[in-house]
Amino acid sequence: MTFSFELAASGTPLEGAELVIDEPRGRLHCRSCGQHVGRSDLLLLCECGSADVEVTSGRELALVSVEVT
Ligand SMILES: [Zn+2]
Repeated sequence: MTFSFELAASGTPLEGAELVIDEPRGRLHCRSCGQHVGRSDLLLLCECGSADVEVTSGRELALVSVEVT
């Protein structure tokens, strides 16, 4: 991720920028309504009230911001 970013940013104003990556807590996929919802700390519960959910992207990395130094 970082390596490919450096390649992509090379020669652009983003060169030398600092990548800020946050690892989200994950998301839930509700088997009842098919909705994807954000995961809260304690509750594994869909907005529709169903507890029949699965965590789908807990290891996914999200690019939050790029700080140009
Ligand atoms: Zn649901």
